[in-house]
Amino acid sequence: MAIKNADRNFIERVFEEAYQKGLSAAPSGHKADYIPELAKADENAFGICAMDKNGEFVGIGDIDTRFSMQSISKVLTLSAAIEIMGFDEVFSNVMFEPSGDGFNSIVKLDTVSNLPYNPMINAGAIQIASMLADNVSFDNLLDFAREFCHDSKIELNEPVYRSECETGDRNRAIAYLLKSKGVLKTDIEKTCDLYFKMCSLNVTARSLAGMGLIISNDGVNPFTERRYISHENVRTLKSIMFSCGMYDRSGEFSVKVGVPAKSGVGGGIVCAARGPLGIGIYGPALDCKGNSAAGVAAMEHISSSLNLHIFD
Ligand code: GLU
Repeated sequence: MAIKNADRNFIERVFEEAYQKGLSAAPSGHKADYIPELAKADENAFGICAMDKNGEFVGIGDIDTRFSMQSISKVLTLSAAIEIMGFDEVFSNVMFEPSGDGFNSIVKLDTVSNLPYNPMINAGAIQIASMLADNVSFDNLLDFAREFCHDSKIELNEPVYRSECETGDRNRAIAYLLKSKGVLKTDIEKTCDLYFKMCSLNVTARSLAGMGLIISNDGVNPFTERRYISHENVRTLKSIMFSCGMYDRSGEFSVKVGVPAKSGVGGGIVCAARGPLGIGIYGPALDCKGNSAAGVAAMEHISSSLNLHIFD
């Protein structure tokens, strides 16, 4: 799907309809409040936008509002880890199976498996953070995030970061459990600090569209032609986003939308649609699984109207 001039009116109409569907769905959701700073979000905020490889752009609503990327950072850290350490090393420390449990669940990690189920849930991302912590600095990852999202203004959201540190005991518990099993081998506070910082990067829906575009364009920035992720690794990344990116609603999202995506409890969704087309969404009212309620409704409409389902 490219945003060609001939199709622009049609695409803009689809986005306008999706925006209205999202607005109708938003009241069924609630903003996250278990990290106190996230409870300050405006529950009515909503924005969706898309960017194609020619730089054509459609956007509607709050597409330049800053919010913390939260679990969407798991896409960045997995990308960095497989590029730096390679597939075999990464996936001998974390699996790639959907967990069917909540993002911060600890149960299966304790009772079923020593390895985290996948890198898109907290346990997996904390394990990835531990592997990165001794190999790359936060500043390097911040630069990576800025380039990957075509957004030089991405910064650490200090209040969110402090809030995560103050209330992150469940994540620390996951890290201690991983350490007790001999899987996590680095310093717990250093690992959690990197994980909390990455969750606290401030992005916009526009930045997420830029990020989705690189992923959908086989890991290459179409404007600079710089490759960030190898073809093999971006295939792995998209497969994991497709099967595990939308918390324990990933199966339903794959069936109904059919686009590799990742959401975060800050209200963001990044989608890497074929085309290549990057789609970024902000809507902090979350469904009971942790996904933007407005964003999911909007994506169902956009995908069916623009034939974006990968099996269409
Ligand atoms: N910082 C959040 C946490 O670890 C991220 C959760 C999410 O977006 O899924 O609880």
